[in-house]
Amino acid sequence: MSGEFSLIDKYFAHQQQQRKDVILAQGDDCAIVAPAQNSHIAISTDMLVSGTHFLADANPAHIAHKALASNISDLAAMGASPAWVSMGIALPNVDDAWLEVFTTTFFKLADYYGIQLIGGDTTKGPLSITLTVQGTLPEGKGLTRSGAKVGDWIYVTGTLGDAKAGLDVILQQRMSDDVALNEHLVEQHFISTPRVLSGMALRDIASSAIDISDGLVSDLGHILARSDVGARIDVAELPISPALTAFLQQEDERQYYALTSGEEYELCFTVPETNRGQLEVALSNTPFRCIGRITGTRDLELHRNNIPLDWNVSGFDHFKVTV
Ligand code: ADP
Ligand code: MG
Repeated sequence: MSGEFSLIDKYFAHQQQQRKDVILAQGDDCAIVAPAQNSHIAISTDMLVSGTHFLADANPAHIAHKALASNISDLAAMGASPAWVSMGIALPNVDDAWLEVFTTTFFKLADYYGIQLIGGDTTKGPLSITLTVQGTLPEGKGLTRSGAKVGDWIYVTGTLGDAKAGLDVILQQRMSDDVALNEHLVEQHFISTPRVLSGMALRDIASSAIDISDGLVSDLGHILARSDVGARIDVAELPISPALTAFLQQEDERQYYALTSGEEYELCFTVPETNRGQLEVALSNTPFRCIGRITGTRDLELHRNNIPLDWNVSGFDHFKVTV
């Protein structure tokens, strides 16, 4: 097994960023960390499997980015500050060029977010990556899915729909004649920027939050289910990028993409009327948009400029979509 140890030592044991609260990282039976007093720890695990979440020949830089960014996005959705990550990885063979690109990208992103790789497990098998991320929170300040109240306003950060358009290109289901636009959308699919600072800034402002990994309708549905409320969304308010506007000619289609596109890693959150002023100050460096309001109906209603829509939006399995 000496090969396994040298592989771990060569590729997984030398991150530039070393946190002061990591007492012991790779090399022993466990890692040891020292959380600050009065802090709570948010923990999340996500798996990426070849053939399910990415194609086996996908760029290793894209895979590394997607694996870590999607996990960090879960911390962002709780308002947590990223701290530690562990990695379980199965590799079909030892491909030095692949590992070099994968780990370089992984550590660059990890350094950017101040998160340290503290341990893991490496084994031979069909390519898959499982990360467990941990982040710190001031006691009792975690943003959950269950706090939305009737009358709260619903917001999203960034723009929505590009990741789904990028997937169309990857799967060759739909292409633009503009090659650069296709490439841009594929990048958008893999290279998201988790909204960590926004999540932290929302700790005392938002009543609930979630990150958009399965699509706005589906993920907002989790907030509605956990909070026992409904929502009314104005699809004309959905934030859409110039790239998506160039890719899809029909407005309906762009709005449908914005409602259903997964792997966006933007935040969807709710804010009580009294905190709206504070929100403008707290998120002054992040694009965000108000898209609707929480209702007491326990349904999701879609409108466009006050006209009800009867769209059948897939991915929304908690509530009936009403007109
Ligand atoms: P054990 O036999 O105790 O499971 P391993 O031989 O699997 O230990 O791993 C040796 C050390 O390398 C451990 O500290 C483990 O956390 C670390 N490690 C193994 N694989 C990885 C990885 N992919 N990323 C980070 N650390 C890893
Ligand atoms: Mg092991």
